[in-house]
Amino acid sequence: MANKEFKAESKRLLDLMINSIYTNKEIFLRELISNASDAIDKLYFRSLTDKNVKVNREDLKINITIDKDNRIITVTDNGCGMNEKELDENLGTIAKSGSLKFKEDLEEKDDVDIIGQFGVGFYSAFMVADKVSVESRTFDEKQGYKWESSGADGYTIEPCEKEDVGTKITLHIKEKTEEEDYDEFLDNYKIQEIIRKYSNYIRYPIQMEVEKRRKKEGTEEYESYKDIETINSMTPLWKKDKKDITEEEYNNFYKEKFYDSENPLKVIHSSVEGQYKYISLLYIPKNLPWDFYNKDFEKGLELYSNGVLIMEKCGDLLPDYFSFVRGLVDSDDLSLNISREMLQHDRGVKVIAKNIENKIKSELENLLKNDRENYEKFFENFGVQLKFGAYNNFGMNKDKLKDLLLFYSSTEKKLVTFKEYVSRMKEGQTSIYYASGESIDKIDMLPQVESFKDKGYEVLYLTDNIDEFTLQIIMDYDGKSFANVSQESSDIESEEEKKVIEKVNEDNKDLLSFMKETLNNEVQSVRFTHKLKNHPVCLTNEGFISVGMEKTLNAMQNNQNAKAQMVLEINDNHEIAKKIRFLYQTDKEEFKKYSKILYAQARLIEGLEIENPTEISNLVCEYLSK
Ligand code: ADP
Repeated sequence: MANKEFKAESKRLLDLMINSIYTNKEIFLRELISNASDAIDKLYFRSLTDKNVKVNREDLKINITIDKDNRIITVTDNGCGMNEKELDENLGTIAKSGSLKFKEDLEEKDDVDIIGQFGVGFYSAFMVADKVSVESRTFDEKQGYKWESSGADGYTIEPCEKEDVGTKITLHIKEKTEEEDYDEFLDNYKIQEIIRKYSNYIRYPIQMEVEKRRKKEGTEEYESYKDIETINSMTPLWKKDKKDITEEEYNNFYKEKFYDSENPLKVIHSSVEGQYKYISLLYIPKNLPWDFYNKDFEKGLELYSNGVLIMEKCGDLLPDYFSFVRGLVDSDDLSLNISREMLQHDRGVKVIAKNIENKIKSELENLLKNDRENYEKFFENFGVQLKFGAYNNFGMNKDKLKDLLLFYSSTEKKLVTFKEYVSRMKEGQTSIYYASGESIDKIDMLPQVESFKDKGYEVLYLTDNIDEFTLQIIMDYDGKSFANVSQESSDIESEEEKKVIEKVNEDNKDLLSFMKETLNNEVQSVRFTHKLKNHPVCLTNEGFISVGMEKTLNAMQNNQNAKAQMVLEINDNHEIAKKIRFLYQTDKEEFKKYSKILYAQARLIEGLEIENPTEISNLVCEYLSK
């Protein structure tokens, strides 16, 4: 019988398992039971659509035996089984689910993290067993096959006799060592305890032979006898009454099911009566799911029809902007043999999805209202998602989402809502002011921001690429439009002040257009301003595309030609204004050099690159050496 080698990553994972220092070794049983339950689901599900597969729902079960003397535990299911090829592919290769990320994490994390976060499936058997065999038979074949391995050396597969369809896993439990008492896994009570702890809600009976005591007939004496008993409660958590479920139960269920090492931020459990009856158990995670920004990430909720899993990720149940929500929906009103394609058009699914969306939204609103600290934590992780949601599809969902958005405020020095901003607006203020940049600190130092702050206006600081696009699509809040402080038109000057500066610009028309020419018309215009307090220059923009948006648009594919219409503004109250006026009259060459340096400075302040760094550097040094 040929010995096959494990694939490289599998071998590493297996080594980790065999030499595991992970203390929570008992989870091996949870993993095997969960595989068994999945396999039964698969077979049962197939029986609903394939006339050739006949199963009786009542017969479906998982059986566990313990043979203490021979140090053996078996886990048997009557699920879909595996044929020769499947045994080779499924057990010879690392689990497909999450394997990509998994490989990366193997590099840097220790096994404790890995097992805790991702669950490792079948290979966890090697934490407690030094030899594992898997005998399996599928519905389509009479022949069974046996996979066997003693660990990292490899595995064998050979034909074997197997009477029933399904899988039997045999574990040869390791000898007791000083560090680890493997004997406890051969203890009947201990195994029962582990089953109840991790697999209580498995929907198929997990049966074991247990020892019981009864009175001997006609006497007062007791005798012990053996009986097969179902160990798990089988009622799925979500079908239990809310008041009978502890927070810990909700949290444990979440952590095991969705491989998160932390408790969720929020649990939303609802039972809905109405046109479509369903139960939903939803979780808002604290942290980003590990694969959230992976291109393979699939949103969706588990979909059950009366306790039977019909789809692992039903994407139609969640809008994109709530894709971080994990959980499940169980409805008796959905047909079991509904296909993925049909689901998209199913009225029931549509109605349920709508309800779920409203529910998540109102729970988030509650969190924002009643538990600001946690909402802000949530927003740090998932806010971008909501902002994209408001922006996407031409702002189709903006009204649903705008009250859930937060932005950093210049006056409050924390995240605030639009509503809060508007409630504090100064008398006569008609716009919601914002500024964008790479970081809060950088925005705070922008010259144009300073002048707004000086006049006592609150400014929202936008640091995510999507932010400005989102505000532009939302357009206004409570009748107040949004205005970029760098936008030429967002004026906080009085009519009087405006007249004064207009006159200055008019008087210096030639100088300003000469400077614009000198800068190769890279800016839309050059003008003097009274808005800047101490700063010599700044860049503002005319038109729809701001400097920040130009950066974002150009970073995206297919959009390389976005250009903000920039305006170079020079502080008329600064010494530099006098100087350039003087140079314009006396020395045009010198004036050109000054223009270049001023423009370069304005770009640098905005976090933009300069096209001629060497030239600028040489010019600056020329003046430094004078
Ligand atoms: P995962 O369950 O995360 O996919 P595992 O390593 O636990 O990873 O299992 C690998 C694969 O082996 C499963 O996806 C499944 O196809 C198959 N498998 C494992 N146990 C069983 C079983 N008892 N019956 C049928 N197939 C099984």
